[in-house]
Amino acid sequence: MTRTIVQKYGGTSVGSVELIQRVADKVAAIRQQGDNIAVVVSAMAGKTLVGSEGVLVSGQPAYAWHQATEAAGASVQFSEGLPASCDVPAHRPVGPFAYDAAGGVTDVRSTGEFLVRQLGHRLIAESVVAIEANGERARIVTAQRDTSYYDAVVVAAGTGTPKLAADAGLHLPDRLERHLRFTFRLEAAITPPCWIERSEAWRSGFTSYSQLTSPTTWAIGAGLPASDVAWELGADEVERRSRTAVVAYVEEALNGVAPTPIDKIACDVTLPGGDGFDAKMIGPIVFVWGDNLFKFAPWLGRQLAKAAVNGDVPPELHQPPVGD
Ligand SMILES: Cc1cc2nc3c(=O)[nH]c(=O)nc-3n(C[C@H](O)[C@H](O)[C@H](O)COP(=O)(O)OP(=O)(O)OC[C@H]3O[C@@H](n4cnc5c(N)ncnc54)[C@H](O)[C@@H]3O)c2cc1C
Repeated sequence: MTRTIVQKYGGTSVGSVELIQRVADKVAAIRQQGDNIAVVVSAMAGKTLVGSEGVLVSGQPAYAWHQATEAAGASVQFSEGLPASCDVPAHRPVGPFAYDAAGGVTDVRSTGEFLVRQLGHRLIAESVVAIEANGERARIVTAQRDTSYYDAVVVAAGTGTPKLAADAGLHLPDRLERHLRFTFRLEAAITPPCWIERSEAWRSGFTSYSQLTSPTTWAIGAGLPASDVAWELGADEVERRSRTAVVAYVEEALNGVAPTPIDKIACDVTLPGGDGFDAKMIGPIVFVWGDNLFKFAPWLGRQLAKAAVNGDVPPELHQPPVGD
């Protein structure tokens, strides 16, 4: 008989990366026994790092998303119509819909602060100007011209990774694309879930992800055709095109969102973009790259640490990016 087990973790039981991993292993073991489990995680170090909002995916990719999350043991609602509990600020959201009530958006800033606190004095905040494999060791030169040698190194420098790799003698994908996310005032008195909108119902080639960044602000990141976000267009032109498209989307497709952006975040995307990652090694140095790495972070961190210790990149670290 399948049992439903409820467990609660909080405070010191989730107070470090290792302890969180131990909790995750316990939860996975219960699922593998065939029992259902509901896990309640309360604040660690005074603050939760994952929000309690749901995540809604709309459009055809919702079906694959639903199947993948179900296969992973998560309970996700799939429907042709908008789930009753999902109040998104749109005139006519187009399905199908996959809704994960326990989705949760990561608080990236607090997570970073938490990790920095965990590392404490072991963290050296310096800019690396050169890294090279020097026999069995890695030689690192910082902007302060300090040279140090290490037995194993993992380089995760985002868009700075290809340059460091090239200097070390390794060619990595170095084509970039620009991306912008704009924040608007939410005027409707609703609490929408994080919304990944892939129906392209408003305009072919336009997708978006949106989330509350405060109870009254709604941030929208747009997926635009490659020709509108090409690196060669320059930052100003891509911002102009992105802003024009997102403001038109707010005016024509959304409801209860004031169409004047009040904030923006610009970022550079390593191509091919999408969900996935890859890693390569030269001597004792592992380089990792990808576009949407945050969601994989704990698992990816463990695999990279193993690769660095074993001196070999396992096949699991070659996951070519996919669009959705
Ligand atoms: C608005 C926005 C929304 C996003 N949403 C999602 C999402 O929903 N899900 C998801 O999975 N991902 C998301 N991402 C992407 C995710 O944040 C990145 O994939 C992830 O941060 C990449 O991690 P990284 O460590 O490789 O690179 P980064 O986070 O870019 O970190 C690299 C660090 O290395 C430092 N650095 C670079 N060069 C050097 C050098 N020479 N010496 C020393 N330090 C150096 C940089 O200063 C930086 O601090 C989003 C990104 C943005 C901007």
